[in-house]
Amino acid sequence: MTLEARHVLEFPGGYTRTTGPVIGRFLTELRDGRLVGVRTAGGRTLVPPLEYDPDTGDAVTGDFVEVGPAGTVESWSWVHAPRAGHPLDRPFAWALIRLDGADTSLVHAVDAGDVKAMRPGLRVRPRWRAERTGQITDIESFVPEVTKIVSPVRTEYVLKPGLALARFLEGVAAGVLVGCRCGSCHKVYVPYRLSCPECGVAITEEVEVPDTGTITTFAINNLPDPRAPEVPFVSAYVLLDGSDVPMITLVAGIAAHEVRQGMRVRAVWVPEEERTASMTNIKWFAPTGEPDAEL
Ligand SMILES: [Zn+2]
Repeated sequence: MTLEARHVLEFPGGYTRTTGPVIGRFLTELRDGRLVGVRTAGGRTLVPPLEYDPDTGDAVTGDFVEVGPAGTVESWSWVHAPRAGHPLDRPFAWALIRLDGADTSLVHAVDAGDVKAMRPGLRVRPRWRAERTGQITDIESFVPEVTKIVSPVRTEYVLKPGLALARFLEGVAAGVLVGCRCGSCHKVYVPYRLSCPECGVAITEEVEVPDTGTITTFAINNLPDPRAPEVPFVSAYVLLDGSDVPMITLVAGIAAHEVRQGMRVRAVWVPEEERTASMTNIKWFAPTGEPDAEL
């Protein structure tokens, strides 16, 4: 199970509810070979779109903007032995991809051929299916962009998230969640990033945040997934204590129907000897038993 792959579980095939207008629009555009995000009142572009701004809980605006189709790999988890139901029948990566123009990332398969081809900052583009039906699988996978010439500006652009991610994963390997605090607006972001998405200023202050937090929103998923402990399972946005932006994760250790907004949870880490520099170190979040928090 990886954090990256959890985003895949956000797609509506796994939801118990019907497709609302926001996700419906996303899927309709997919069928037509376009990728769109939805704008929040704060001006961020969510891809895949959500009906509510994870930062504020407010309904998103009705503004859709075309994004991508190319994007940048932020992190990934290599699948050596694909299973039935995986998008590819050969080794591939589940990758967290930030599409150009988007402020959030989605997870999709990257058909890179070899794990050595994967790196933070890798530029990828969608490989569309000829026949599309309005599902996330209308994109068979993403494939690396062929870029023989890399301009200095582009180099700068792709290196920055890579460094921040490396710093974050270094912490995760040590069982620590490393975030950062913007010197201008004082918001704390986890994972660690090098610039503030609100102010655009460079961030230099590193902060450790605890592995406890509060569920802000969640979805119950009914499609089996090798990373999930059972079906149905819950994917949720968890606002870590001391941070200002929720992160997406699995929630387990509780029946899906008992999960609620405001529930206090803690990361469940894999045993120390099994840890690597990846998000697979956190299996999921489980209830702490504390009283619910006010959101
Ligand atoms: Zn800021």
